[in-house]
Amino acid sequence: MREGKLFVISGPSGTGKGTICDRIIKENDDVALSISMTTRKPREGEIDGVNYYFVTDEEFERAIAEDGFLEYARVYEHSYGTPKKAVLARLSEGTDVILEIDTQGAMNIKRKYPEGVFIFIKPPSMHELRKRIEGRGKDDPDIIELRLGEAEKEMQLADEYDYCVVNDDLDEAVEKVKKIMADEHSA
Ligand code: ADP
Ligand code: 5GP
Repeated sequence: MREGKLFVISGPSGTGKGTICDRIIKENDDVALSISMTTRKPREGEIDGVNYYFVTDEEFERAIAEDGFLEYARVYEHSYGTPKKAVLARLSEGTDVILEIDTQGAMNIKRKYPEGVFIFIKPPSMHELRKRIEGRGKDDPDIIELRLGEAEKEMQLADEYDYCVVNDDLDEAVEKVKKIMADEHSA
């Protein structure tokens, strides 16, 4: 049986990664979205085991000690990690897997898993990025400033990715990511 492909989607917070990934997952049964573990508290409406596995610092440390992560990173004062077993199991059963992770995590995966396909999602402008993070209305003002500061640095890594998609019109961005995924299969 053929192995599934690993697609790594990253880009600054608020650029629309989650929105794009949700659409792709809903429209395609053959693609799985990896559920990360995080020590961040759930935002309103987020569900444990659906959006993330929300864990304590101790539980996260234990998963590191047990070699349970494909990668993990400290992002905006919290820890986030990609569970190794679940991702490798899906790939070996032939399912494509999307990792929606930050740029540090993406660069780590690129070193360990260079056959992955790396897609950077860019906002149309920094002004629009601020509007989206503020419009999402789920982060405190100081957290928003922290995320915007990091965004400037993250944008400089875009060239390290195989593909760059500007998320201006959402439908167009979703179509572009879907086309990249289809083209990678026929390559
Ligand atoms: P990320 O996962 O990159 O942090 P989200 O998917 O949470 O970003 O999107 C941030 C906000 O921007 C959300 O409120 C979302 O509805 C909105 N958004 C996403 N894509 C677009 C778009 N193309 N145009 C306008 N708003 C968008
Ligand atoms: P948020 O707190 O907004 O859900 O996510 C913050 C950042 O952490 C986003 O850039 C998101 O892509 C990233 N992230 C989510 N899960 C993981 C993960 O497992 N590993 C890494 N490195 N980053 C992650």
